[in-house]
Amino acid sequence: MIVKGVTCLKCNTFVFSRYRYDFRRCPCKTFAVDGGPQLEHILYPTFDDRKNWMIKEQCEIKATENELIADYQQKRNNFGWLQIIQSRQLTQ
Ligand SMILES: [Zn+2]
Repeated sequence: MIVKGVTCLKCNTFVFSRYRYDFRRCPCKTFAVDGGPQLEHILYPTFDDRKNWMIKEQCEIKATENELIADYQQKRNNFGWLQIIQSRQLTQ
């Protein structure tokens, strides 16, 4: 499925929220997302960080919505972030 998330350019990681209550931080903890795979909320420390260190984008994940929810609920954590991927699709 297609998920929306943000890429942190400080730690080169794409993060997305698997479920509406899944609060996800990138490894360097600069950015966080929340609200599910449609990306309801983005948290960032300063406007400068948001402008210069973050890209809003979407990514195709090899999992169904139910698999993402199960991954969250059972704390398996196989999904939710990716190291920078080769083919990127900018959403904005
Ligand atoms: Zn980061």
